[in-house]
Amino acid sequence: MTRAVLSIGSNIGDSLSHLRSVTTALGDRVVASSPVYRSAPWGGVEQQDFLNAVVLAEDDAFDAWDWLRFGQRLEEAADRVRVQRWGPRSLDVDVVVCENVISDDPRLTLPHPRAHERAFVLLPWLDVEPDATLRVGDVDVPVAELLENLSAEERAGVVKQGVGDGSW
Ligand code: ATP
Ligand code: CA
Ligand code: CA
Repeated sequence: MTRAVLSIGSNIGDSLSHLRSVTTALGDRVVASSPVYRSAPWGGVEQQDFLNAVVLAEDDAFDAWDWLRFGQRLEEAADRVRVQRWGPRSLDVDVVVCENVISDDPRLTLPHPRAHERAFVLLPWLDVEPDATLRVGDVDVPVAELLENLSAEERAGVVKQGVGDGSW
């Protein structure tokens, strides 16, 4: 059995549909999905705001690599083109954590090495798993604490959309 926390985002085309393509493909593997957030772009590239969400997913037969491949197939299905690092994209699916797997393989680094600095990951993650912890370096830190430690600017750039539940 593996449970994964997936961070999904889009800022090209019909972003909500791109996010929905993930929960649709996951089907009954979805344990919980966060509300959708509108997020200021991260990483310094000038571009449109993103829509982001976090999905908690479970599949007895999946290991961490299966979650990565699953996400990559959906990125391809959304015609994602890789142009620029941290640039605009139709769909991005990142594996934030998968159980307690730790990996420094550049093709699949776990936990995701930048998740702890991103309000667009931590805020929606807390919605679906309020007690979640994330390993940063050698320490397991509550996600709520990581969020508190971000700058006010980083947090203010991430705003809940619409009705604010996971039913998108
Ligand atoms: P970031 O990783 O900072 O969020 P990005 O999502 O824009 O940036 P991509 O271009 O989508 O980066 O991915 C680059 C590579 O990262 C992929 O080819 C993938 O193999 C690798 N990768 C490593 N760890 C992970 C992970 N935990 N989840 C998803 N992809 C990962
Ligand atoms: Ca990403
Ligand atoms: Ca990615």
